[in-house]
Amino acid sequence: MNTVSSGSGEAGCGATNRTRGLVMVNTGNGKGKTTAALGLLLRAWGHDMKVVMLQFIKSATANYGEHRAARRMGIEILAGGTGFTQRGKKAGKHEHLAQELWSVAKEKINSGAYQMVILDEISYPLRYDWLSVDEVLDVLRHRPETVHVVLTGRDIPQELIDFADVATDLREVKHHLKKGIKAQPGIEF
Ligand code: ATP
Ligand code: MG
Repeated sequence: MNTVSSGSGEAGCGATNRTRGLVMVNTGNGKGKTTAALGLLLRAWGHDMKVVMLQFIKSATANYGEHRAARRMGIEILAGGTGFTQRGKKAGKHEHLAQELWSVAKEKINSGAYQMVILDEISYPLRYDWLSVDEVLDVLRHRPETVHVVLTGRDIPQELIDFADVATDLREVKHHLKKGIKAQPGIEF
């Protein structure tokens, strides 16, 4: 069996050869938006790139598999919400937390210190008008050119899809939760 050893990637794919940061969108109703973003995080981290994932909505006390992995890898995944079950237009605390997390995200994007910043579930605060689409666009437009930014969540606003370099719409074909199989570690969290 072949294994991937260090430095064995495609010719010229080292982090130092990358010149242009991308804006990437994972949206749609199908499963895989966050996990695909985590795949990018892993891939970039493997190239010694500095990466961070900021999770809107998800609870700061959640201890999902990706949070456990991040601690062991020595990378940052910051969850700054009160959890999916509490979300909704009237969840005042959510709004405040989302704005706080967005401030952190802006700093990290603008710092130029990160090569990849993932804004997980950012579609919800945008759809609830807790964050302004125009402001997010402005930050993306003026970011340091080496920073990749990945946005995930159902129903990402069209303006962001228009601006993105790559956008993927994950379409639900079927989902096990709908036939009563409960959320489980390693799959949902
Ligand atoms: P994942 O985190 O598994 O990649 P996702 O980011 O695409 O999923 P979200 O919209 O963030 O999906 O959904 C959050 C939770 O709902 C996850 O636990 C996910 O497994 C589950 N989920 C995703 N898609 C569906 C669906 N079509 N029907 C029911 N549950 C779903
Ligand atoms: Mg998700």
